[in-house]
Amino acid sequence: MRWLMGGQVYDVDKGSFRAADVAIENGRIAAVDRGAKRAPGDETVDASGLWLIPGLIDCHVHITQPTDDGDPRAAASRTDAEVALFAAAAAERTLLAGVTTIRDVGGWNYVEMAVRSAIQAGTIRGPRMFLAGRLLSITTSTADYYPGMYEVADGADAVRAAARRQLGHGADLIKVMATGAMLSSETEDSRAIQFTLEELKAAVEIARDNHKHVAAHCHALRGIHNAIDAGVDSIEHCTFADDEALRKMVAAGTALVPTLCAGEMLFRDPAAVASMPEFLRVRMAEFNDVHLATIRRAHELGVTIAMGTDAGTPGNHHGLNVQECVILARKAGMTPAESIRSATVNAARLLRQSDHLGSIDVGKHADIVALRANPLDDIDELARPTMVIKAGDVVRDDRA
Ligand SMILES: [Zn+2]
Repeated sequence: MRWLMGGQVYDVDKGSFRAADVAIENGRIAAVDRGAKRAPGDETVDASGLWLIPGLIDCHVHITQPTDDGDPRAAASRTDAEVALFAAAAAERTLLAGVTTIRDVGGWNYVEMAVRSAIQAGTIRGPRMFLAGRLLSITTSTADYYPGMYEVADGADAVRAAARRQLGHGADLIKVMATGAMLSSETEDSRAIQFTLEELKAAVEIARDNHKHVAAHCHALRGIHNAIDAGVDSIEHCTFADDEALRKMVAAGTALVPTLCAGEMLFRDPAAVASMPEFLRVRMAEFNDVHLATIRRAHELGVTIAMGTDAGTPGNHHGLNVQECVILARKAGMTPAESIRSATVNAARLLRQSDHLGSIDVGKHADIVALRANPLDDIDELARPTMVIKAGDVVRDDRA
């Protein structure tokens, strides 16, 4: 048994801290107790003066995607070996930043599956991973930008087969492109519908039959409606949603994964902006404020928001994931407690992992981040973890 002694432990549901010691056994939380009795031989970690929150969960990552170059085509010709080395390093950076779980919604030739296996075997360090494999898309010129990521399927039967192929590779969810993308070819329109309602329903059918969930990339309004109507579990981006669509998400229990970092982090990185093709730069700038306003409105209307960054897009570097929580609190109208909820319990629910992840409670994985100050007072504290614990193992320790 290992004890984290003397810290302030965060209760995600109450939105408050209390003094407690945390016992960890076999990678899980065995007790959350004040002044608990320890057995001889128990190991202790001094957490006095530290603020302990659950390990954070990022529901929208592309762990195989490099972020330095503003031109998405620059990454298209990489070998799988190069991708694997990059993804392993990106996974470690992500974990050390306090993100102990990620959901990858578009990998690269299933290299991310091998990275997950190496993490599980303890060969390399990285977060828990829930993986979509390749994302499913209609025939589009953008598939040439991301040849390792796109699985083209036209028609409901082809979508069923493509979804089954992802599951065969070990996917935990199915990702579908309901509308055009932003970081896409010049001819692709983010306001265009891609998969039809029938095709989306086919993806949901296969996922449901296999106890998996579905994430739908959506910018265009009608694509958002189609995805909700098809029964997907999360809308990614949700850029052009109106009140009617957002209310429909509340009623259906559809989660929203905001990915505000995709726009916000790009414009904090001058090198990424400078190397971005002009038409993409214009597009990204044009829609960033619209996106922010939609996420703010979604929160006002009570849509469940699950934190996701789109880490892997230009300037949106792996390991800076918690900036999404900061942006949600500073620009989208959330309190710090709501922002932390989005990256813990809400994300865990979307992953169907509520019994295992998302809070510091007995029986859950001992994934814990220690901060030097109260993040409810300053959300930026999330970006300064002093200790990161995954499955009870201290993987980062800056206390000294
Ligand atoms: Zn994405």
